[in-house]
Amino acid sequence: MIVEQIWTGNSGRNFNYLIACSETGEALAVDPLDHEKCLARAKARGWTITQILNTHHHRDHTGGNRQVMAATHAPVLAHANAKDQIPEMTRGLRAGDVIKVGKTVELECLDTPGHTMSHICLRSHTDQPALFCGDTLFNAGAGNCHNGGHPQELYGTFANQLAKLPENTLIYPGHDYIVNNLRFTLDREPDNAKAKEMLPGMERQDTNHPLVTTLALEREINTFFRLSSPSVIRRLREAFPDLSDTPDPKTVFLKLRELRNKW
Ligand SMILES: [Zn+2]
Ligand SMILES: [Zn+2]
Repeated sequence: MIVEQIWTGNSGRNFNYLIACSETGEALAVDPLDHEKCLARAKARGWTITQILNTHHHRDHTGGNRQVMAATHAPVLAHANAKDQIPEMTRGLRAGDVIKVGKTVELECLDTPGHTMSHICLRSHTDQPALFCGDTLFNAGAGNCHNGGHPQELYGTFANQLAKLPENTLIYPGHDYIVNNLRFTLDREPDNAKAKEMLPGMERQDTNHPLVTTLALEREINTFFRLSSPSVIRRLREAFPDLSDTPDPKTVFLKLRELRNKW
């Protein structure tokens, strides 16, 4: 499995992806908003885009579908329940479905509600596993729930699915928000040494060659995975004085999501 992470350079800071089979050169385009860059990159690598996947229906993920379809005749895959919002969709996906790319790539679909209620993440079962997580999980952060999502569902996705993936899973999100997210982590957990150490390097990072984190690193720097950290809870009780001193993880997650909305 070969992954090309494509920096769009747009104001939304979107990442698009090509996932290719090393034997056949067939490729899956994930959220190819910047259709020109995606088509050019495929051409430069000698690949043929044979499928398009939308992690969810938001326009900054589906906005390049028609152009990539016109150029490649590739079908569009998305969550089965996103059919009304993505009319060009031809294959509806459910949890456990497998997407094959060429001869060597198999990607498992995870049904990951929260950012929207019809959001798919893709998981590879390669030696080093990978997760293409759209707007559900970001480097050092979590998706918002403003446009058709629910924070409670997002918590369920984090706790019941994402947190259970292998520690060495590579994280490929739909946007580059790492700098702002690390700042939020440090606001919530000022003694987070790892986040503090990483921030200056991330402020200077070349987004054409971004850091790819792992789930293990996310557990260190992503406040939405640090729900039992004593400093996170202590700081949260400053913002929410009614909070108990031993809040359950779900309550911590929901309060953090609420604070992040205004960050
Ligand atoms: Zn979105
Ligand atoms: Zn997005």
